[in-house]
Amino acid sequence: EEDTPLEKETAVDPGNPRRAAVLLPLPLAGAYDYLIPPDMAVEPGAVVAVPFGKRELSAVVWEILPDEGRPGPGGESALPLERLRPVLEVLPVPPLTEVARRFLRWVADYTLASPGAVLRMALSAPAALQPPRPLTLYRRSEAPPPQGFRLTPARRRLLEVFEEGPARALAEAAAAGGVGTSVVKGLVKAGLVEAVSLQREPGFPVPDLDLAGPALSDRQASACETLHGCIAAQDFSVTLLDGVTGSGKTEVYFEALAAALAAGRQALVLLPEIALSAQWLERFEARFGVAPALWHSDLTSAQRRAIWRAVAFGRASVVVGARSALFLPYSDLGLIVVDEEHEAAFKQEDGVAYHARDMAVVRAQLGKIPVILASATPSIETLNNVQNGRYGRLELPERHGGALLPRIDLVDLLEDKPPRLEGMGPGGGQAWLSTALRAAMAETLAASEQVLLFLNRRGYAPLTLCRACGHRLQCPNCTAWLVEHRLAGRLQCHHCGFASRLPKTCPDCGAEGSLAACGPGVERLAEEARALFPQARLGLMTSDTLTGPDAAAEMVRAVQAQEIDLLIGTQIVAKGHHFPHLTLVGVVDADLGLYGGDLRAAERTYQLLHQVAGRAGRAERPGRVLLQTSEPEHPVMQALAGGQRDPFLAAEAQARENAGLPPFGRLAALILSSPDARQVDALASALARRVPRIEGLSVLGPAPAPLAVLRGRHRRRFLIKAPRGFRLQAVLSGWLGDVKLPSNLRLQVDIDPYSF
Ligand code: ADP
Ligand code: ZN
Repeated sequence: EEDTPLEKETAVDPGNPRRAAVLLPLPLAGAYDYLIPPDMAVEPGAVVAVPFGKRELSAVVWEILPDEGRPGPGGESALPLERLRPVLEVLPVPPLTEVARRFLRWVADYTLASPGAVLRMALSAPAALQPPRPLTLYRRSEAPPPQGFRLTPARRRLLEVFEEGPARALAEAAAAGGVGTSVVKGLVKAGLVEAVSLQREPGFPVPDLDLAGPALSDRQASACETLHGCIAAQDFSVTLLDGVTGSGKTEVYFEALAAALAAGRQALVLLPEIALSAQWLERFEARFGVAPALWHSDLTSAQRRAIWRAVAFGRASVVVGARSALFLPYSDLGLIVVDEEHEAAFKQEDGVAYHARDMAVVRAQLGKIPVILASATPSIETLNNVQNGRYGRLELPERHGGALLPRIDLVDLLEDKPPRLEGMGPGGGQAWLSTALRAAMAETLAASEQVLLFLNRRGYAPLTLCRACGHRLQCPNCTAWLVEHRLAGRLQCHHCGFASRLPKTCPDCGAEGSLAACGPGVERLAEEARALFPQARLGLMTSDTLTGPDAAAEMVRAVQAQEIDLLIGTQIVAKGHHFPHLTLVGVVDADLGLYGGDLRAAERTYQLLHQVAGRAGRAERPGRVLLQTSEPEHPVMQALAGGQRDPFLAAEAQARENAGLPPFGRLAALILSSPDARQVDALASALARRVPRIEGLSVLGPAPAPLAVLRGRHRRRFLIKAPRGFRLQAVLSGWLGDVKLPSNLRLQVDIDPYSF
C-alpha cells in the first residue's frame, strides 16, 4: 500500500560525502544531521556511534546528504557543515539492509510511531554492536623452568592440569588444579604458562538438510509442492495454510523452511507464545538436527547479543521468535511463517502498537519473499484477503493418520445446574461442574484416559466480596477487582501487578470473617475436582504455575507420560500441545469471553474454544468435548457444536461489513492518559473541539477507556472510524500534529486496535 521511497535522488559527491542524516533510537520526529569525518567511509544503513547531548548513542545512517543539506519541513535552512557534530565511529556490524530500513520506515508511518522508536526495536541488543571481548585462555608454554624456579605442590598440580588438558580460562584452570588464580599468574610470570587471546564468536549450529521429514500424505505433499513453488519464485506471496488441528500444518511448513534454507536463505517463524513452545522446539530439533535461534523478551543480554549478531552476520539461519523477532537485522531473510496467525498475542499494544502478522506481510512484500500464515481458525482479516484473491489458501481438512475430530456437545447450564458439593462447610460447596460433565469425567478417568478442564481464569476467585456490607476488594491503582490467589496466599491485580494479603476483616465495614470468594478460578475448580475425584492426579496449568519454559516443558512431559489424569488450565493449555491420551475436554464457562463490547469477542471465543477442543482425541482414541454454556443458542456455541466454522465466520464477516468495521472499514483508537483526571479530561475536550470534519470520518468519544484507571493513570479514549482506503494516518497526524503534551500526559495511537 503506502510505500514510501526511502532515498530521493540527491547531488552527493560519491567520492567524499560529508553530511549524513542519522536516525537515533529515540522517539524524535526525524533524523539528525551529522558530519562525516574525511577519512570515514559511511554508507546508508551503517550502524554508527554519534554524540547526542552529553551521551554517545548507537544510531543508523539513514541517508547521505548533499554538503549543504536540505531545508527543514518549514523551509528553514540546514545547519552549516561546520556546526555539525561528527559521526564518531562506524560500528563493526553489517549495515542495515535497504529492505530493513524501508520496513522500519513503513512501520513508523503506518503506526504513527516515531521512526526512532521503531529503530529502537531493531537495535534491541546494544551490546551486540561492539565486537566480542576477546577471551584470554592459558596453556603450557614450551619454555623450560627459569633459574631458581620453585616447584611447589600447588604449582605441580596446576602444571599437570595444563599438561593434560586444553587451554583454559583463568578461573577454570585454577579450579581444575584446586589452587588460587595467583598460582596461575605466578606460572605465567615464570614463563611456563602462556596467555593466548581468542576472538570468541559463538558458532550457530547449521540445520541438517539431509535429514528427511515424515512421508507426507497426498494432501500434505501437494501443499508442500505449492509452497516450494512460492519459494522458488523468489517473490512476494502470502499463503494461508488452513488446516484442522493435527492435520500436519507444522510438518508442511517445516518442508517450506527446508526449501528456503536449501536456497541459502534465512527463515523466521513467529509463534504466539514462546514460553509454551517446548514441544515445537523438540520437533524442530528432531527434523533439522539442531536447535533454532530463539528470540523472545526473557533472554539474557548475552543471549540477545549472540543472536542479534548471528542474524546480522548470517550465521543463524532459522530464527523462532515472538513478534519482536520481526525487527532483527536479517542479512538475507527468505521466508516468514506466522503460526497460529489468528492469535491476539501477535498484537503489541504498548509503545509501538503493531500487529506482527500484518507487519510480517509488509516485511515480506518489501523483501519480495513468501510468507505462510498457519491456522485452524484463521482470522476474519486473513480469510477476507483469501476471498478477495490477495492471499492463496492451502487446505488440510483432515487430521493426520485418520484421527477423528472430537465430538462437541453443549451442556445447558440453566437445565443442568451444577449440584452443590456435600460437606464443604459454610460458604463452601458451590460447584461449577454439571452432572453431565461429572459423568463424562468419571467415565474417562475410569478408562485411564485423561481429562482437561478449561477455565480461562487464573487464581482462586475473580472477585472477593464482603457478605456484611457488599464491599468488593478493588485494586488501588486500576479499575479492576483484586483476584484471590489462594496457593500464593494473596490478592493480585492482573493489570498492574499490585499484590497484598487477604485481609481478615472487611476493609470497609470491619466485619470479621465476612469476606467471601465469588466465582471460580482454576484453583477453585481444582478444589472441586479434588472433592469429586480424590483419586485423580491433578495438574494445574496457568501462567502462575508455569513460570518459565522449563516448568512448562516439565508439565507437558508429565501429561504425556500419564503422570497426570486430570489437567486444569487456562488458555495456556489451548496452544499447540499434543496430548495423545487426552480424550475429554470440559469447558467450564464457554460464555466467558462473549461479553465486553469487543468487536472480535465472538470470533475470539470461537477460535479459543475450537483450539481447546482440538486438544481432545489427537491420537487413536476419539475425543469428546463438553461446552458448559448458559446460551446454547448463541451462534458461537452452535458453530462449535455443529462444526460449522465457515458459515459462522461468514456471518461474522457480514455483520462487520454492515457495520463498516475492520477489515471492511478502518479503525483507530487514541488513548490519552495521565495521573491527573482533570488534566486528561481537559486535553480530551480540547482535542474533541478540533476533530477534523471530513466526509466519511467519524470520531467517537472521548469516553473512559476500558480500564478507566490503569496503573494509577486515568484513561480517556477516542475511537476513529473511516471507510476502507481512507488516509487515516494523514488525518490523524493533522489532528494530533501540534498538540502540546504536558510531561505526564501520554497520547497513544493504536491503528487497527485489537480489542475495544
Ligand atoms: P498441526 O500443526 O496442523 O496441528 P501437526 O503438524 O502438529 O499438525 O501434526 C499433528 C501430529 O501428526 C504430529 O504429531 C505430527 O508429527 C503428526 N504428523 C502429521 N503429519 C504426519 C506425517 N505425514 N507423517 C507422520 N506424522 C505426521
Ligand atoms: Zn492494578
